[in-house]
Amino acid sequence: MLEKTLISFVIPCYRSELTIEKVYEEIVSIISERAEFDYEILTVNDYSPDNVLQVLRKLAAKDEKVRVLDLAKNFGKHCALLAGLHNVRGELVVILDDDYQCPVNELWRMVDAIVNDGYDCVTAQYRKKKESAWKRFGASVNTKTIKWLIDPPNGIDIENYVVFRRYICDEIVKYPNPYPYIGGLIMRSTHNIKMIPMDERERGDNRRTGFTFMKSLSLYVNGLTAFSVKPLRLASILGFVFAVIGLIYGIVIIIRRLLDPLVPLGYSSIMAVLLFAVGMIMLLLGVIGEYLGRIYISLNRSPQFVIRETVNVDKKDGSEPDKTNEAKD
Ligand code: UDP
Ligand code: MG
Repeated sequence: MLEKTLISFVIPCYRSELTIEKVYEEIVSIISERAEFDYEILTVNDYSPDNVLQVLRKLAAKDEKVRVLDLAKNFGKHCALLAGLHNVRGELVVILDDDYQCPVNELWRMVDAIVNDGYDCVTAQYRKKKESAWKRFGASVNTKTIKWLIDPPNGIDIENYVVFRRYICDEIVKYPNPYPYIGGLIMRSTHNIKMIPMDERERGDNRRTGFTFMKSLSLYVNGLTAFSVKPLRLASILGFVFAVIGLIYGIVIIIRRLLDPLVPLGYSSIMAVLLFAVGMIMLLLGVIGEYLGRIYISLNRSPQFVIRETVNVDKKDGSEPDKTNEAKD
């Protein structure tokens, strides 16, 4: 019999008791269209306050290809994804949301781009984003910052619906630090990425996004500091610029004073000294911050995720999956 290619779907679940079953059914029906593919679905309950865990348990009891990882607290979407990625067994990995917004019906276009056209990763590129104005604004600031921080290949923007080869997953899970950012980790592993335009759907329920303003903000700050020391470098550069301006200003005042002894000194000289001193302080803070940041990043051993319970999950070698994932040296 033909060896089937296993596709692992990884779904972080949070407040989706009303939609996750629909997503599951759609995946099963799409996969049944092509006999050469098989599926497993790794659902990760990110300590959701609703009853999604019960729904997941029910699905897992009915279908052993549904696996459940239940996290011990709300670690956030990217940590939940990472917990799932640590346990995938398929040759292809699909990341998608639990709220029916990702157009699963576009799956074969994405898979074909990998299997037939030789891409290593395919991401959705949404034509219309179904989200509020402030969220769109936040997302665009985020994209621009990411561009600045990690220099993605031309215009590539990793969305919430992505398919990639297994080796990228193996690369992503090596990331040891507490604040993972999956899009960044994908782009760190490969630049052989294709974007396929499609429309994002409405949420399958009429609930609001699970991302509160504070969650989005903290994700943004994490992305900013976990991936790069560029922000600290910016502080150093700013400090340096201020210091130079202060210095030049000071020299100008001295020259003016020498040329015209009547020029009053008070205000100007205070400003010059102030600019210079503030500049130097910022410069030094930036340098100290840079060292501190590096020490913090390498010493902080807070777990990326903690799994309290699993259903239908064991590793390929039959052992239990890692229950926690601590930063390693
Ligand atoms: N999510 C999560 N933990 C959270 C918040 C969200 O795992 O604390 C997951 C959620 O289950 C979903 C994805 O992140 O799969 C996107 O969430 P949502 O649809 O609420 O956000 P949006 O579509 O507005 O980006
Ligand atoms: Mg959503």
